[in-house]
Amino acid sequence: MSSQPSGAIVIDGELVAAHDAVVSVFDRGFLYGDSVFETLRTYGGRLFHRDAHIERLFRSCERILIQPAVDAATIVTEMAQAQAALGLPEAVVRVVITRGTGPLGLDVRRAREPLRVVMALPLSPPSPEVYANGISAGLSHGARATDGTAAAGAKYSNYLSSVLALQKAHEQGQGEAIAVGMHGEILEGTTSNLFVIKDGVLHTPPLQSGILEGITRRVVLELARTLSIRTRVGLLFPSDVYRADEAFITGTVRELVAVTRVDDVAIGSGKPGAITQRLLTTFRQHAQATAGV
Ligand code: PLP
Repeated sequence: MSSQPSGAIVIDGELVAAHDAVVSVFDRGFLYGDSVFETLRTYGGRLFHRDAHIERLFRSCERILIQPAVDAATIVTEMAQAQAALGLPEAVVRVVITRGTGPLGLDVRRAREPLRVVMALPLSPPSPEVYANGISAGLSHGARATDGTAAAGAKYSNYLSSVLALQKAHEQGQGEAIAVGMHGEILEGTTSNLFVIKDGVLHTPPLQSGILEGITRRVVLELARTLSIRTRVGLLFPSDVYRADEAFITGTVRELVAVTRVDDVAIGSGKPGAITQRLLTTFRQHAQATAGV
């Protein structure tokens, strides 16, 4: 087994091979998770909703008071550069912006220039079995680092509470952990948004609850409307999930994955539901047709 990571990396504008891609131990992204990121993927070699991802990246920077040293056009160029150097038909592109290096200590005024990393890596989507059978998930209660702060909903890099929640879910044989907020409301998966379907209506939690505005979530809501599936964006509680007819999560790499069991409860028939399947098919058609447009 090769231990060499494969990928093409652009650090502050300079292309380097994955095994040579290193950043300073004084970088605040490393020291404090003081950074933001985006994950994009290609369809037919073209990035899906590239501009929406870049807009969200800049919004995330704004929320945590990082001022990127470059504009969106530079990031677009660096993404293309990394993709070309990777040379694979399909890729995942990760962009990370950290507050940069500085002396130890939290004071943001002591940070120097923000650091920018763009990586193009081989796309590794879930297996066909995941789409055929769905996954189980566990509800995860407990505060997240930025709940109730200005950074809530930004794609900041400190995923520690999600890392631990996912680890616990894996221990229980589950594929995802769904965060539950301080008032018992359903939030989102560790790297996904959650939808449930009840009596033909598609429900998902509101952005006001501090969840990430998933780009897949937004596209799914739009596609549901074009398919005349009724949608409701509003608070959901665990009982709404347990009693749902169907449930699924959304995310850039995973697209839509059915959730067929939550904790000890089978969702609907315990198999991926018809509306979930229809939305996945429509989503893939849309992605193939519109990526890079
Ligand atoms: N929610 C969280 C916390 C995430 O980290 C992600 C993606 O990584 C998502 C939702 C899904 O967002 P998107 O559909 O833009 O990939």
